[in-house]
Amino acid sequence: MRRSECAQVRAKASAYLEKDLSPSLMERIKKHLDQCHLCTAFVRSLAVTVRMLSETEAPQTAPDGFTDRVFQRVKDAKKGKD
Ligand SMILES: [Zn+2]
Repeated sequence: MRRSECAQVRAKASAYLEKDLSPSLMERIKKHLDQCHLCTAFVRSLAVTVRMLSETEAPQTAPDGFTDRVFQRVKDAKKGKD
């Protein structure tokens, strides 16, 4: 039964990271992670992957001109300091 519990936890891992589960399911997964190193490692590496993806996607989803404005603001801020 333990193996299928792991499969369930991994299937719900991304929803767990987004806290997109019922409180009782969140609690069940949390308890499982407390005693299962493999699933803990799985959830951690998934969290890193999700963060990396959201960081690399950010510039693509930024509205037109947004990065230029940020860039300009950084340049202005530097000018002010010097
Ligand atoms: Zn497990």
